[in-house]
Amino acid sequence: MKFSTKAIHSGEEPNLKEGGYGDVVIPIHLASTFARIEVDKPTGGYEYSRTGNPTRNSLEKRLSALENAKYSLAFASGLAAETTLVLSLMKQGDHIVAFEDLYGGTRRLFDQTLANFGLEFTYVDATKTENVTVAIKNNTKIIWLETPTNPLLKLCDITEISKIAKARKVITVVDNTFASPYLQNPLDLGADVVLHSTTKYLGGHSDVVGGAISLSSDKLYDKLRFNQNAIGAIPSPFDCFLVLRGTKTLALRMERHCQNGMKIAEYLAVHSKVKKVNYPGLATHPQHELAKKQMSGFGGILSFYLKEDTDINSFLRKLEIIKLAESLGGVESLINQPASMTHASIIKKERERIGITDNLLRLSIGIEDSEDLIADLEQALN
Ligand SMILES: *Cc1c(COP(=O)(O)O)cnc(C)c1O
Repeated sequence: MKFSTKAIHSGEEPNLKEGGYGDVVIPIHLASTFARIEVDKPTGGYEYSRTGNPTRNSLEKRLSALENAKYSLAFASGLAAETTLVLSLMKQGDHIVAFEDLYGGTRRLFDQTLANFGLEFTYVDATKTENVTVAIKNNTKIIWLETPTNPLLKLCDITEISKIAKARKVITVVDNTFASPYLQNPLDLGADVVLHSTTKYLGGHSDVVGGAISLSSDKLYDKLRFNQNAIGAIPSPFDCFLVLRGTKTLALRMERHCQNGMKIAEYLAVHSKVKKVNYPGLATHPQHELAKKQMSGFGGILSFYLKEDTDINSFLRKLEIIKLAESLGGVESLINQPASMTHASIIKKERERIGITDNLLRLSIGIEDSEDLIADLEQALN
């Protein structure tokens, strides 16, 4: 099956057997526990909802289909997925090489929480593969990538880096939240693990917080499955339903996100108040060629620098349709100032070294009519 068909049917086959109701939409199974006849044999394969739940299982199958993975695991948030992943793969003294331009919350988890448990982190500019190669040490267990990155929209070469990691027996993790499975499938490019904040494009409507991991290794899956249950950061059945529902329109939404993204990037790129636009779809983007090769579209997120003499707060206040808020990937357009919002937890010096200055704004372009969005930007900029 192709993407849109999988997004609607995989993991959600109606039960047409004797006793089944034939629901075309998987029910929200709220039961926390499942009765059995024999002590050693759960009746329908389920025991307790932290360990496994039919609605969650349906979502996990759907996510596997979309990421071309053998297995997926759903979590209560993207960060819950990340925590479970790191605790499953690392022990005291182990090392992670990570892209320096990471989601702010991921860096906070690494530097302010996990670093207290004897884990070591090195951040590199992964746009150049050799920077990753030289950072690998004997105790390196994971190469942690995000592409495109948040908020600077930088890309790294998943195929190249995965190859190097494999030769050194290091696991490559790709946070695929920005691209969504519709635009990029890291496992097909050689990565070992794909991570999502399903809060973003997969959910798609800014009404659920969730996370997911997809992979194809039996051994790794067993470890993760054990720890998903042991740690317990699982999503509720209702949250699973919302993400499942979101996935059905992912292809349609992403098409519009990409169209609007390109139009707005082109509009901003030539605006007199704008200094620079970061969008992989622009020919001026340093990894535009890689984006064409690695992704099937350029997505709906861009960031841009306003000229230094522009009153940023006044611009943000004047926007009417585009709301000032954290998060991204929903049907509605959102704007954010990374330095004071999503990336405020990174120390100022490091933020500015990477390029997250106060005049940088990130725009998550929704699926509204692009003319209205451009008109909104125009009145606020002028
Ligand atoms: C939002 C986000 C996360 C964290 O996910 P939550 O669901 O907010 O915990 C991780 N990575 C990226 C790229 C994100 O955008």
